[in-house]
Amino acid sequence: MVKDPVCGMEIDAKKAKNKMNYKGKVYHFCSPSCRWAFEQNPQQFVK
Ligand SMILES: [Zn+2]
Repeated sequence: MVKDPVCGMEIDAKKAKNKMNYKGKVYHFCSPSCRWAFEQNPQQFVK
């Protein structure tokens, strides 16, 4: 399981369709809207 950095939801990485590569790391999202939020301001969600 991986964590959606935007809302904190646990996601099965094998089933996740919403993902994005940021600075060499792949992030998974529960929905397109969380992915969109991450795209707008990745720094806010990456520690
Ligand atoms: Zn989410």
